Amino acid sequence: MFFAVLSACLAGEVPACGPVTLAGQPFSSMEQCTTGAPRIAGTWLAAHPDLTRGGLSCVPLSDLPVLPVREVAPGVHVHLGQIAQFEDSPDGWIANLGFVVGSDSIAVIDAGASRAQGQALFAAIRAVSDKPISHLVVTHMHPDHAFGAEVFREAGATIVGHARLADALQSRGPVYLDNLTRLYGSGPMIGTRVVLPDVAVGDSLDIDLGGRVLTLTATGPAHSDNDLTVLDRATGTLFAGDLVFRGLTPIVDGSLPGWIGWMDGARDGGPVVPGHGPVARDWSEAVGAQRDFLTALDHATRDALDAGLPLSQAVPAIVEALQPLAGDWASFPDSVARDATAAFKELEWE
Ligand SMILES: [Zn+2]
Repeated sequence: MFFAVLSACLAGEVPACGPVTLAGQPFSSMEQCTTGAPRIAGTWLAAHPDLTRGGLSCVPLSDLPVLPVREVAPGVHVHLGQIAQFEDSPDGWIANLGFVVGSDSIAVIDAGASRAQGQALFAAIRAVSDKPISHLVVTHMHPDHAFGAEVFREAGATIVGHARLADALQSRGPVYLDNLTRLYGSGPMIGTRVVLPDVAVGDSLDIDLGGRVLTLTATGPAHSDNDLTVLDRATGTLFAGDLVFRGLTPIVDGSLPGWIGWMDGARDGGPVVPGHGPVARDWSEAVGAQRDFLTALDHATRDALDAGLPLSQAVPAIVEALQPLAGDWASFPDSVARDATAAFKELEWE
């Protein structure tokens, strides 16, 4: 299998360029690719008028950059992201991503932080299977999970998300994209776009990959206001998105009581793939430490409110109260200060 790879460039004082894998059209031979590449590169560039053509080449699948993935259950493949927040990462490739292979097709769960990461996930999928990629499920709005999506749309996938995902991406997406471009540079983010879902899940939805059903479940505000989980019924594997953090400090961007309530829902079954951190064998391993963290945040915030502290004094008091947990979590100081602010603003209205 061969793919055309375009060097796409953003005009500027110093032009920034980056490789764009034209994932929509695989070629079976180098000759076919060489013949077809100029046409599909032209079509892609016409749809991306901010970019210009640098070089154009054809490469075998084995030469594309590829994300490491591991099969955690039969047909369930996971890439583990760096255990770090954006500020502590060289490229923002921090989220766990995955895909499930059915008899007829493949579903991808989360697309990565940029087009480049989406491409590297696409290459990892193609190294495992050449079945059609029928679905991309975006677990929520955050850019480390959502920003590689266009690669999979070009490869033919229907993009599925929570009913509130489209609004969230429309209001926050452009700011996220500016922030990541400032952090990592235009070249590494080249071709990255905010892509809206095709299918909205209000409650739940089953996806059939051919003898293999994934059950998608939308939740109320918790980690974010548009969290969606994916259960592979064949193996019991739950892709929890950022409803489960392990090792990386949880970020509250939805509702703290909502998130604690979600964890209280009993669940049995197989492994849990968190949005960040190692795969858990079961539910109690998945949420144990996170429950301690979020409960401590809830208690410390209520104590600060009961003491009548204003936000400016409450945040350091909450951070101080959570300090005994610091050793368990990466990127702790900045994330806890954000969490304290979010929790205070939410709970002061209760
Ligand atoms: Zn998130």
